Amino acid sequence: MGHLFESHIVMHELSMAEEMKKVVRSRAQGQRILSVDVSVGALSGVVKESLDFCGQAVFEEAFGPSVRFVSHWVPARALCDCGNEFELAGPFTPCPACQGYLRKLVGGKEVLINFIEVDDGNKNEQNH
Ligand SMILES: [Zn+2]
Repeated sequence: MGHLFESHIVMHELSMAEEMKKVVRSRAQGQRILSVDVSVGALSGVVKESLDFCGQAVFEEAFGPSVRFVSHWVPARALCDCGNEFELAGPFTPCPACQGYLRKLVGGKEVLINFIEVDDGNKNEQNH
């Protein structure tokens, strides 16, 4: 059963990496991709290590062995009723300003492509 669960998780990150590849390919418009930088929210359900593995494999296959897939872990963030926004270390972390528990989640569910680094190329090689 453990293996079934693991393969499900990997499939999830693999399909996510494939989606990112499509986005990157359409944005790059034929330019050579050097690196892709993504954010992985703590509440996104994505296993960062799996996404790193799948992302690197998928992007190498699509854009060549020199491409780098970089991901950053984004902690959950909450906005308290008192107006304070803070990093939510766990589900039972009180607001550091007022010690309250009335808050809403404002970050940490997202998986985002932050930027795509492309090879600007040598200007001399461009055709006009
Ligand atoms: Zn508060």
